[in-house]
Amino acid sequence: QRKPIVAGNWKMNGSLELIKEIAAVSAQIEEQQCEVLVFPPAVLLSEAISAGLKCGTQTVSEFDAGAYTGEIQASLVKSLGANYTLVGHSERRSIYGESNEDVANKFAQAQQSGLTPILCIGETQEQRTDGKTEEVVKQQLESVIEKLGIASLVNSVIAYEPVWAIGTGLTATPEQAQATHKYIRDLLRSYDEQVADALRILYGGSVNESNSELLFAQADIDGGLIGGASLKPESFSAICESA
Ligand code: 13P
Repeated sequence: QRKPIVAGNWKMNGSLELIKEIAAVSAQIEEQQCEVLVFPPAVLLSEAISAGLKCGTQTVSEFDAGAYTGEIQASLVKSLGANYTLVGHSERRSIYGESNEDVANKFAQAQQSGLTPILCIGETQEQRTDGKTEEVVKQQLESVIEKLGIASLVNSVIAYEPVWAIGTGLTATPEQAQATHKYIRDLLRSYDEQVADALRILYGGSVNESNSELLFAQADIDGGLIGGASLKPESFSAICESA
């Protein structure tokens, strides 16, 4: 049985005040029911941890340490008490030019440092229109599997976030999302059944309190990665309750 995760990706938003509000929400959710995670801006990480939130960063450097001005060191994130990081979010890929190879290197660095990477994958509108959704997510996944092996996915989470659904209000329908989640799990099953069955695959893209329940009810959807609605304590609370 896969325990659902509801994760809030604050992106470059949030405040000390929001940490308090979301910590209060998180404290209300039964740990048995779902794992609540928050990905605040890195500068707020220690405050969020001190407030009792289970946290991660939105990205980490692919390098161990050294002269990389402005980067986030995975081992320091771990030493602060965070256990997760996102890697390969579509905004990192599209705005900051991260390639599948960069993302695989970040995934590796996260694991070497004791963090659980949440690998974000998903197609653009154009790729979906061209019928390339499966091909795109396959490449994104296989760039990690080819470099690190299928066993590397044991300590990881996948987030399927169709780029056209992010911040647009255009959620994938539960059926559309389930179809891609199933494709992902079947692909992983072709490598290793146990890994595929145990791996949590989150959906992200315009999840809110009105659509979360149906999305999370799908067989291969194990929770969500929430952007905008994770900044609203009431919405985030309702989404967590629906998992
Ligand atoms: P929205 O929920 O705002 O669409 O963002 C999704 C996302 O990118 C989470 O990582």
